[in-house]
Amino acid sequence: DTTPGSLVAAWKARVAKNPDGIALRYFDGVLSAREVDAASDALAAAFEARGTGRGDRVGVYLQNVPQYALVLLALWKLGATALGLNPMYRGRELRRIIEDSGAVGVVCADEDVHETLGTLAGSSVRWLISTSALDCQSKNDPRVFATTERHAPAPDGDLVALIGEFAGRGPSPVEPTRDDVAFLTYTSGTTGPPKGAMNTHGNVLGVVATCASWMGVGDGDVVLAMAPLFHITGAVVNATISLLTDTTLVLAGRFHPEVVLEAFAEHQVTYTIGSITAYNAIYELPQAGPEHFATAKALYSGGAPIPPATVERFRERFGVYLHNGYGMTETTSAVIAVPPGERAPVHLPSGTLSVGKPLPHLTARVVDLHGDPVPCGQQGELELSGPQVVPGYWGKPEATRRAMPEGRLRTGDVAVIDEEGWVYLVDRLKDQINVSGYKVWPREVEDALYEHPSVLEAAVVGQPDAYRGETVVAYVSLKAGLNATAEELIAFSRERLAAYKCPRTVHFLSDLPKTQSGKIRRAELRDVDGTGPDSPSKD
Ligand code: ATP
Ligand code: MG
Repeated sequence: DTTPGSLVAAWKARVAKNPDGIALRYFDGVLSAREVDAASDALAAAFEARGTGRGDRVGVYLQNVPQYALVLLALWKLGATALGLNPMYRGRELRRIIEDSGAVGVVCADEDVHETLGTLAGSSVRWLISTSALDCQSKNDPRVFATTERHAPAPDGDLVALIGEFAGRGPSPVEPTRDDVAFLTYTSGTTGPPKGAMNTHGNVLGVVATCASWMGVGDGDVVLAMAPLFHITGAVVNATISLLTDTTLVLAGRFHPEVVLEAFAEHQVTYTIGSITAYNAIYELPQAGPEHFATAKALYSGGAPIPPATVERFRERFGVYLHNGYGMTETTSAVIAVPPGERAPVHLPSGTLSVGKPLPHLTARVVDLHGDPVPCGQQGELELSGPQVVPGYWGKPEATRRAMPEGRLRTGDVAVIDEEGWVYLVDRLKDQINVSGYKVWPREVEDALYEHPSVLEAAVVGQPDAYRGETVVAYVSLKAGLNATAEELIAFSRERLAAYKCPRTVHFLSDLPKTQSGKIRRAELRDVDGTGPDSPSKD
């Protein structure tokens, strides 16, 4: 058996195979596999000198910069765990995750040092290392690949200076096992407070192997990290998949649609996965054209529903097909996806686009309330098991038992699987609306609204109603320069849906509230009293 036992072993195999191959690209800067290996060895030694070792959690509070990849490899070489921290988080949001995880160290951007030091005072965090080159927008930006500049108040060290100081030294040899936790990843918090999913080396290796073969990522590919690396999809299906294969990982800092669009063409990107929100932002750029996607073999969108109309729009304008992919933090990212070269079928009569077929080694079942499988083609809760599913939540044995009775993950998603194995996601179990006893799935109503040419984004929620129990309310944002009235959108949905499913009220917002991974937060919209369209707070 030649299967590597840990991410470190898999990385070493990649370096040995082609040490001079370009592993990381950031604007004009490049690092070979050998250089990345040496830099991450030095960094591991620097972390170890601060008392950090096996099992310790270290926060990575950075945008999509090359240092992110160096820190990941350095931590794994110590058997330590990378705790992805959303770089947009501030104050309490940051503090909550640090406290829950008991992190011992944090790597942050120079410009966040002040904020971070203030937030973490008195916490479990013993050291802070900072680095520059946070958000370069041009290839001529002198901050590419960092400087040794310090900012006050000084952190314990500057990352690039430490790589120099510890050059040639490596950490004490530790061989992580498949059960060591590679990433501690907090869920998006769409339905409640985020929980820390423990993604082990075995989980990540499972996803990397299945995704690489299924999506066709292999030697010579160029992978663009479009999803943020603190989220499991960016961490595993953009960054780790590229680090462990002989491919180049293109990083572009914080997500700017123009920069990402340019990177596609300039670096001849062959593969990426991102959120539908990111693809929509690119779609909105007037300069975007088919030439930007000429080398793309497969573009995947995951983490949130894709309206069929959006896929069609993309195909018409750019000649590329957006492949759907389904995954959860708890499944270490993508586990159900549309195979390359295939088209996701649309479920009739609901009009929902399939999220794809289960990837190798994943067992997907649809079960009833008692956990018993329902007949093929019927609705129920999606239940998943396989090497991709985490052993549990950090420090939450009770939540783990509830979510994974007998080791099988109850996803909280309602799904249908057809005879050919295509999986259709109906909606979140918690989001079902009950109108006078009729069940309404918000997704179906949203998909109908997306067919309107002026609609950019739509979210549908139930609101308490004295007479009907609940009524359907829609929140809509419009495309730049286009118009629609509430009456028009209600009439539009009436042509497509049974009357009880149609929104009775439509509110217009310039932006819908979203999680940082780009998911529309229906829960936040439900909390609005429905009287004022401007009231939802943005996160
Ligand atoms: P929390 O668990 O904290 O409430 P979350 O479930 O949104 O947040 P994630 O683990 O990031 O956190 O997201 C997983 C969920 O995203 C899935 O359970 C599913 O509802 C949704 N999802 C993922 N991929 C798709 C997809 N392709 N289409 C529709 N929904 C998807
Ligand atoms: Mg969830």
